[in-house]
Amino acid sequence: MEDGCSKVLSGGGSGSCGGGAKKPFHFARSLTYHHHQGHRVLPPAAKWRRHQLADEPRARPKDVVLYTTSLRGVRRTFADCSSVRAILRGFRVAVDERDVSMDAAFRRELRSLLDARGRAFSLPQLLVGGRLVGGADEVKQLHESGQLRRLLDGAAGQDPAYVCDGCGGVRFVPCTACGGGRKVFVEEEDRVQRCGDCNENGLVRCPNCCS
Ligand SMILES: [Zn+2]
Ligand SMILES: [Zn+2]
Repeated sequence: MEDGCSKVLSGGGSGSCGGGAKKPFHFARSLTYHHHQGHRVLPPAAKWRRHQLADEPRARPKDVVLYTTSLRGVRRTFADCSSVRAILRGFRVAVDERDVSMDAAFRRELRSLLDARGRAFSLPQLLVGGRLVGGADEVKQLHESGQLRRLLDGAAGQDPAYVCDGCGGVRFVPCTACGGGRKVFVEEEDRVQRCGDCNENGLVRCPNCCS
């Protein structure tokens, strides 16, 4: 996984990097920070805090990240993912849904995140502003007690009826570098190699809705 800043640089999306988009020199400063740390994946909370300190005092919207699976293998898990998704839709917030069945990198990301907190791997998992909220039971409980609303306060809004034109809501599109075949021809070396742009399924995150 790339961090938010390099995504902004390569994807050209604005706003996902803490309001630094209009001031190019902020990029340089942020990149120095990330490279200096030498981490491939920064915990979102740390990233956010660092941005706040480095860039500007104004708070940016809280990221709402939901790890899910679209595989129906375990019915309970699938149902739990659906119910948490439905609860979040009710709050009309923008959710960065990370389907681990679409990309092994999401699975690794979630596993290390849960390992670090001494938790067993389970789906779904909700993070708000970099803080682990928990799975379906925790989310339902917080929803019923009214605390979820407060937690989501400050999150970016999104019309729940919105469907991305680019991916139809799948959040992934076939890789354009290899056409989804996962192999590219390297002319200088006269050989075929694994495409470096896409994941194990020949997919990249939709540049339209996930930049
Ligand atoms: Zn590719
Ligand atoms: Zn999309």
